[in-house]
Amino acid sequence: MLDVHLGKLARYLRLLGFDTIYDRSYVDATIVAVSVDERRIILTRDKGLLKHKEVSRGYWLRNIQPRLQIAEVIEVFDLRRAVRVFSRCMICNHALEVVNETDVRDALPTGLRGQFEQVSQCPGCERLYWPGSHYDRLVDLVQDLIFG
Ligand SMILES: [Zn+2]
Repeated sequence: MLDVHLGKLARYLRLLGFDTIYDRSYVDATIVAVSVDERRIILTRDKGLLKHKEVSRGYWLRNIQPRLQIAEVIEVFDLRRAVRVFSRCMICNHALEVVNETDVRDALPTGLRGQFEQVSQCPGCERLYWPGSHYDRLVDLVQDLIFG
């Protein structure tokens, strides 16, 4: 459960496959309520948020830069072996589904059509993810940070 100012960290976490709730319209009370209802750990840079008495699991991020924050979260919660790159939609957090390329070919950029047997698709927003998409650079970046 991410605090409202952590949009980049939310994308990184989802990119690595972690179930991440982030909505920049949430007020503190909503963040606390969702974290309690769904037994989620709150990540925040705001110590005040963690002082709400209902909060049982929260963590105050030391780093300000998203790249360092993702490395920090992986380290603190010992998540290295739980990383599943490209298993979750970066935008809406749904678990991705593997689909036959022929079923979604029209939605792929023309230069890529016919290059893969399968691609991943978000069942929520229908966004497609494929090897070599522009997210690859982000994956490389994050993997460098995490695995050195
Ligand atoms: Zn989606």
